[in-house]
Amino acid sequence: MDAVKLKNSCICGNTAPYAECCGRYSKPGLPDGNIGSDPAGREAFRRDLHDLYMYLFPLRNLYQAYWERLSQEEYPHHLLMADPEYGRAVMANFFWDYSVQFSDARPVLRAARDVEVKNIRLANDFREWSLAPLWLWRVLEIDATRAHIAMLDTGRTVRVEHGGELPGPGGVFAGRILTYRGREQMHPAILTFPAGHEEALRDRLRAVCRDLGIKSGAGLRPDVQCEEWRRHGALVLGLWRESVYDARVGIPARTMAASRSFRLPAAARGDLARQLRADGAVALDATRLELRYRALTLARLEAENDGWLRVTLLDEAYCPYVFHWLGDHLDAPARVHASTPSERAQLPEAGGLNEWTRAPHDALGGESPLEASRHDFGRRRLSALLSRLELQGDAISALRSHLGL
Ligand SMILES: [Zn+2]
Repeated sequence: MDAVKLKNSCICGNTAPYAECCGRYSKPGLPDGNIGSDPAGREAFRRDLHDLYMYLFPLRNLYQAYWERLSQEEYPHHLLMADPEYGRAVMANFFWDYSVQFSDARPVLRAARDVEVKNIRLANDFREWSLAPLWLWRVLEIDATRAHIAMLDTGRTVRVEHGGELPGPGGVFAGRILTYRGREQMHPAILTFPAGHEEALRDRLRAVCRDLGIKSGAGLRPDVQCEEWRRHGALVLGLWRESVYDARVGIPARTMAASRSFRLPAAARGDLARQLRADGAVALDATRLELRYRALTLARLEAENDGWLRVTLLDEAYCPYVFHWLGDHLDAPARVHASTPSERAQLPEAGGLNEWTRAPHDALGGESPLEASRHDFGRRRLSALLSRLELQGDAISALRSHLGL
């Protein structure tokens, strides 16, 4: 095992060091120093899951191939790999779902074969775990170690054990349920969704099912529905990313464009940098800061001597979020510059459709219609935008075909 690598990230895909994450479960006994007495309980499960990830760890050359594939997608996934929830889910998606294309060499099953000679019971556990889909659940009741949860789309309920990763009652999350010695255990790579959008999420989950051509995630099997299984984890993770990142800060472009810089009169009272730090910006040094949202750096901020603030956007898509944030955290003058997405769509000028399709648009999170037309989430926003345009029917259909909708 490469000790240096493990210092910087964990075997599960978390960016925390191994010793602070899965390493705590490598030996008998609980992380708090107590000795676990239940051979079918959470502690024993976590130790065996740790051992599975140890088996999987050397297979990272396969993971690299997956990564190359991901990096060709429209979304710049590398920006989110510092998000521990995202990193762990991507890792699990690879080992559980995507690798089904390697047929009987699926890594979890390969681990089962390897461990079989020493521990047939564990081998059977691994085989059972390999069947667990990533799906959306709603918490009905929960305490420190157990929860009663319902599948978001079908309402089917299950009692599970967990390690404290789940949201409270009513919370929606994505996770895999691993059967272990007769009990259901939550895989610790949980994706928690923002509260209050349950209906919209249920609709989006139905769209995922339609996309996959299945009725529900219940009963989805890797050995029967190969193609569906290979894609389902990425679609569920995409749903989480849309809710947690895209809906808040916009969708960054994959291609790097020159960063845009602004200067704002900050009407600083006292130390501007200190004030921004107190509001949550991350200090790089005495005058320079970064505005971040979770793992994403959105803008660099630099307090200039004369009371002005220099703002450099890392992506045009972050513009509305960054200016709202600055408007909320600086004194009045900055508010003048804060742009709010206009409700009334900007109209393409007659004969100017080409320019319009290439110009950044507020309603598309700062993307141009052409950029938005290249990915799923963008196409939905684009369709909504087109439906609000006051154009003749034939102009609309010309525009739609130009954008490949
Ligand atoms: Zn870990």
